[in-house]
Amino acid sequence: MLMSLLVTMTVSAGNLKGVDRSNLDPTVAPGENFYQYACGGWMKANPLDPQYARFGTFDQLAENSREQVKDIITSLGTSGRRGTIEQKVGDLYNMGLDSVRLNSEGGTPLKADLDKIARAQRADFVKLIAWMHSGIGAPFFNSAVMSDLKDSNNNLLYLMQDGLGMGDRDYYLENDANTAKVRNAYSNYIGQLFQLLGYKKGAATKAAKNVMKIETELARVAMSREETRDYSRLYNIRTVAQLRTDYPNINWDEYFAGIHVSGVEKVCLFQPKSLAKVNELLSTLKEEQVRQYLTFKYADAAAAYLSDDYVQANFDFYSRAMSGKQVMQPRWKRALNVPNTLLGEAVGQLYVKKYFPADSKKKMQRLVDNLKVALGEHIQGLTWMTPKTKVNALVKLNSFTVKIGYPDKWRDYSGIDIDKSKSYWENVLAARQFEAAYEYGQLGKPVDKDRWQMTPQTVNAYYDPSTNEICFPAAILQPPYFDPSADEACNYGAIGVVIGHEMTHGFDDQGRNFDYTGNMVDWWTKEDADRFQELADKLGEQYSAEIVADDVHANGKFTMGENIADHGGLRVSYSAFKKTDQGKGTELIDGFTPDQRFFLSYANVWANNITKEEILRRTKVDPHSLGVNRVNVAIRNLEPFFKAFNIKAGEKMWRDPAERVAIW
Ligand SMILES: [Zn+2]
Repeated sequence: MLMSLLVTMTVSAGNLKGVDRSNLDPTVAPGENFYQYACGGWMKANPLDPQYARFGTFDQLAENSREQVKDIITSLGTSGRRGTIEQKVGDLYNMGLDSVRLNSEGGTPLKADLDKIARAQRADFVKLIAWMHSGIGAPFFNSAVMSDLKDSNNNLLYLMQDGLGMGDRDYYLENDANTAKVRNAYSNYIGQLFQLLGYKKGAATKAAKNVMKIETELARVAMSREETRDYSRLYNIRTVAQLRTDYPNINWDEYFAGIHVSGVEKVCLFQPKSLAKVNELLSTLKEEQVRQYLTFKYADAAAAYLSDDYVQANFDFYSRAMSGKQVMQPRWKRALNVPNTLLGEAVGQLYVKKYFPADSKKKMQRLVDNLKVALGEHIQGLTWMTPKTKVNALVKLNSFTVKIGYPDKWRDYSGIDIDKSKSYWENVLAARQFEAAYEYGQLGKPVDKDRWQMTPQTVNAYYDPSTNEICFPAAILQPPYFDPSADEACNYGAIGVVIGHEMTHGFDDQGRNFDYTGNMVDWWTKEDADRFQELADKLGEQYSAEIVADDVHANGKFTMGENIADHGGLRVSYSAFKKTDQGKGTELIDGFTPDQRFFLSYANVWANNITKEEILRRTKVDPHSLGVNRVNVAIRNLEPFFKAFNIKAGEKMWRDPAERVAIW
């Protein structure tokens, strides 16, 4: 499980040695709307390109990273010897570019597998579901191997709710106009895929109805996104004997054989209610309905790797209807994502060799150490926490594993064969199946604590409570996040807050339930836990009060962990900054005080433009708050912010001291 900085990845290149005045909107006072003041110039200068649903400084960096990866891949050429990593990466990329071949093949690459689904009878369904879980998709439910939440050195098989193409149950259950519009578009997309597969219009509409019916039934019993944040509710251990008794319509021996795991004695079942529904559906649905659902799930997984008609249908729903993107990304970007993801560490190895300066690691380590000291002092100084819990919190802080740049040990991709005589989809599928086999293959082995859960070329960062590790891939260690030659205020306002953010995840509403070894253990006194909850609820209310679009509010409960992480990150990085010579001083750079530069630098990280559709989608599925709220809601809990910009009671950005929250 991961708590990341962002859901998607993607900065202002440019020479950011201090605050870039062109990012500002001087027509708006900082006390009126700080986000607009700090980022308005950037937003105006970077109108949303129609190939994006959201574009911010983050996305700018991701674009740079993508260009760098493209240079690496194109310089590999097409001459790689069969079986070398260069051949695999190069061929996979080039196959994605070959529109002539893709369009001449149409849907034929799916034929053999879809025939297999078409011939299936009730007794075959579980085998097919297991096969699809191994690299294709997640019909009905899903499974994964991860460390045992209560025994972090050992892996465990997890079973979880899934099967919803729109991702969150609310898309199926809410009836406001925006949600109904997306749902309608989904139903049309399903019908369209069936037509592309050769169904007549009437039959395709009927099949789409069946798929919607199955997904809606799954949505009705699914846990809400707020409920899924509570790991104590998710941790339900079941023996295989119990699974056989409770869910007899799922042949568990066939299921485990299908995902290639053996010797399973127990599993962790996140949502028993959802699995009960799957068990029921597998006997009550007509065979034809199950075949249609599996057929759609397969075609949906493959659509982006087929001819233009499939790709367009897929784009029109997931990107246009759900996110408000108007234009598809150019083919090279879509093609690049495939090796960049499926052979991610192979590309990453080439990336860091060329783009990651060796001394960045040392400089970053120093920043991390400074942040650690500051967070330790904050913990010691907390007025709401008892000394007993503080000791445990400090032990946890001092046990963080820090990963910077790239892994010490790289993944081995020798088991993947990329074969140009086969179709693009067959190769993509082979690579996905290889990845799934690798993941399921961790069962029965001790947890590999050296592995990375993001590639080095990813512009993001994460905290993992089960390993108690913070990780900063190479690609985020560039301007405007991190620039060894830049103003300290800018580094602490950007990468400093990112470091503090990831550290604070170890102490957010989820992370605090894990101890220094990564086990889910309650190390809190009851009174400290109650006080934490009170403060967290107060923070949550600040976010829930914000309207994101129309009459839809932000969801402070669902975004709680990320908001606490932003909150802690800002406070701790500010304290660390105040220990530097520059932070202690009063020197003006570009006309701004050190504190002003710190807050402006922070705000600029979240400068973005975003479509209304994407705002509504993210409010349903993204545990991170919108950029505007990550700035305007978060910074108003910090006294130095009001002082830095001389903001007084009566101004819109003002928040009374009694309404402010200080957790970490
Ligand atoms: Zn985060």
